[in-house]
Amino acid sequence: MTPAIRPLLAGNWKMNGTASALATLEAIAAGIAHLPDVFDTLLCTPATLVHRAASAAKATRIQIGGQDCHTGQVGAHTGDVSADMLADCGARFVIVGHSERRADHAETDDLVCRKARAAIASGLTAIVCIGETGAEKAQGKTLAVVERQLLKSVPDSATPRNVVVAYEPVWAIGTGLTPTVKDVAEVHRFMRDQLSARFGSECAGMRLLYGGSVKGANAHELMGIDHVDGALVGGASLKAEDFLSIARAF
Ligand code: PGA
Repeated sequence: MTPAIRPLLAGNWKMNGTASALATLEAIAAGIAHLPDVFDTLLCTPATLVHRAASAAKATRIQIGGQDCHTGQVGAHTGDVSADMLADCGARFVIVGHSERRADHAETDDLVCRKARAAIASGLTAIVCIGETGAEKAQGKTLAVVERQLLKSVPDSATPRNVVVAYEPVWAIGTGLTPTVKDVAEVHRFMRDQLSARFGSECAGMRLLYGGSVKGANAHELMGIDHVDGALVGGASLKAEDFLSIARAF
């Protein structure tokens, strides 16, 4: 963690959850209420649940986010959801550029950057996801990929209030594999340096999350790394007990 930065524990439910998932949200909220109020908690639900989740989360420590948004706010874009719509439903955050969207929908750095800008324009905080594939790692390209994605996916208007960066090595997502502590430390230090060089001291407080197979058993170690200011959690956010075992490491 970074002293003076309030950490963020974010869950990403991906394409999981119908109305019954609100019981999971309530169980998570009840568990979080018993933990020290020293970190923020966010659940990024499917778009179809954002409104109900935001209502259920009122008067709890849980905030609600979306998982993607369009680059525009209105128009002829069948099936898309705008950042304004998410904000209108009670979302406070939105994930942009998750590797599954980059892979499944051929999202480029430029598109991700425009989505982040749309999110910011709607008053949301954009969680901009970056991270290398297994092949890129094997070729020693991790820092080069992170540098490119940071530069091109994070908009110039980024501040610690409107942008969170999530480092999620693609090969670590949903696989049970995680980088070594040394590797996470190196990438997070690198991201901090890159952001400082670009934005100056303004960005010193920007939250840098780690994501990819975070679970109760490794959360303490991962969250203890310098410049890791929280976690973006997929699979382990779907069950209250799994998510709370991570929360206890914060
Ligand atoms: P995982 O997913 O925790 O299931 O590895 C993380 C993510 O995709 O955000």
